[in-house]
Amino acid sequence: MAVTPQTLRAIETPTAQLIDSINPATGEVSARIEATPATALPDYFKRAREAQVSWKDWQARDRCRSLRSLRDAMFEGRDEIIEVVTREAGKPRVEAIFAELMLALDTAEFLSRRAPGWLRPQRVPHHNVAMKAKSGRLTFEPHGIVAIISPWNYPFSIPMGQAMAAVAGGNAVLLKPSELTPATGALVGDLFQRAKFPLNLVQVIQGGGDIGAALIEAGPDKVVFTGSVATGQRIAEVCARKLIPTVLELGGKDAMIVLSDADLDVASSAAVWGGFTNCGQACLSVERIYVQQNVAQKFVDLCVAKTKKLRLGPASDPDAEIGPMIRLRQVEKVEEQLREAVSRGATVLTGGKRREDLGANFLEPAVVTNVNHSMQLMRDETFGPVIAIQPFSTVDEAVALANDSPFGLSASVWTRDSRRGREIAARLRAGSVMVNDVGSYYGICEAPHGGSGASGWGRTHSRFGLLEMVQVKYTDVDRLPRTPKAWWYGYTKDLADSAERLVEGMFAGSWRRRLSSIAEKNGARGVIFRRDRI
Ligand code: NAD
Repeated sequence: MAVTPQTLRAIETPTAQLIDSINPATGEVSARIEATPATALPDYFKRAREAQVSWKDWQARDRCRSLRSLRDAMFEGRDEIIEVVTREAGKPRVEAIFAELMLALDTAEFLSRRAPGWLRPQRVPHHNVAMKAKSGRLTFEPHGIVAIISPWNYPFSIPMGQAMAAVAGGNAVLLKPSELTPATGALVGDLFQRAKFPLNLVQVIQGGGDIGAALIEAGPDKVVFTGSVATGQRIAEVCARKLIPTVLELGGKDAMIVLSDADLDVASSAAVWGGFTNCGQACLSVERIYVQQNVAQKFVDLCVAKTKKLRLGPASDPDAEIGPMIRLRQVEKVEEQLREAVSRGATVLTGGKRREDLGANFLEPAVVTNVNHSMQLMRDETFGPVIAIQPFSTVDEAVALANDSPFGLSASVWTRDSRRGREIAARLRAGSVMVNDVGSYYGICEAPHGGSGASGWGRTHSRFGLLEMVQVKYTDVDRLPRTPKAWWYGYTKDLADSAERLVEGMFAGSWRRRLSSIAEKNGARGVIFRRDRI
């Protein structure tokens, strides 16, 4: 067992509970992290509030400038980040570099450049002539303390990206990483310190669901949760009771629609990568593939041939393309879905078998056909290395199948006709749709990420993710401070008549009617607001 600073701290505190950081490829415990006792939460909140009070008064551009120091700290610490993530989450090194390190670095770069502009006060021009004499401004104020509760599948880039947006918005962060990836969570907090962010602005709370629940009960000002539907529902219930605003990034069951004019060689490579990256343990995993009947056999053959070539192995093997699943219970869940599908008539063309020669958590990636929507495999999130392929005849049928899901996270459409691709994308119920690619929008900082239905609500990434971290405040300054307003007390018949004529003058169907109602009506003068007022 490696001795880490956390281990030492825990050993110095003999009563401390320890969380094991386990390598899913080998089952070895590589670090022990001190769990946060619920009794310590008030101190965490107190420190966070103190840190946030001065942080919120920093200019947004200065807060965002600090993100460049964070970017530099991540760049300097890149080997350590890759090492900890691959060891604790089991993912191949290439995936740790692209989807964890690079994404976090790029988010720091993106927010440091763009966020100051989006957080700058904005003038609000009024379209209504009656309101022209008022000057409106929007300002963007922090919520206060943002609780970020994150999963194990992207244990670095998810909490790091969300924490960066939260601090850019002027908040303090209490981060509760997954109990399966505590060392990576600790590293996220540590990097903020290395980048010289104010002490306690980003604190890490370690432990399982119980401390996560206690964190929410303690009343943060906003909760950003990424994880399963079941936990999301529990969190939403508590937050509804306490009126805490939330972002919920939950599961997915992403559909891929392959039309007969698609480049089948490219589409099949995308299906295999999109279904198996991170061993299928991605919210954006391609799980359901609908392929047009007349090319279905060719597409399936290509997917099977490509899947058989994939190399399984631990992250320590630089050529490994498919790592282990995070835990054995995850393997068992996938096996159960496969068993149920087969019992209903599905065919597993390749994969689905354990590779115990490599380790208990290794499962061969599987391609499954003869599937339908009565099967769990097509309804529930699989979150493992399985792609299930179902043929369709018409585009209407494909759209109906893709939309026949409680989830609405993302989807893809494959066709050489990009206009047709866009048209189909518009009909899909998903937070994002890619035409001729899968999942890569997640690496585009400008692209919002989030879903609807069982996939949750709210957005992360992009300007919309940043705006989740602030309260929008409207301030109005009247340019005629010595003029009482026409709609104040002192109500009379004249005032009501004038108000009616104003409505007609503003909204009548033709300009002639508008002008005549303002000018004169039934011999009476037009809009008059002069009167005795209270
Ligand atoms: P999970 O729901 O089991 O755990 C997520 C986090 O919630 C962990 O930190 C856990 O300790 C904590 N938690 C558990 N119970 C809690 C409670 N009652 N109150 C507060 N916190 C609690 O999910 P997981 O297994 O870690 O992650 C996998 C899931 O995450 C999948 O469903 C996947 O689709 C989803 N996910 C979604 C996105 C997205 O952006 N939509 C991204 C990654 C993962």
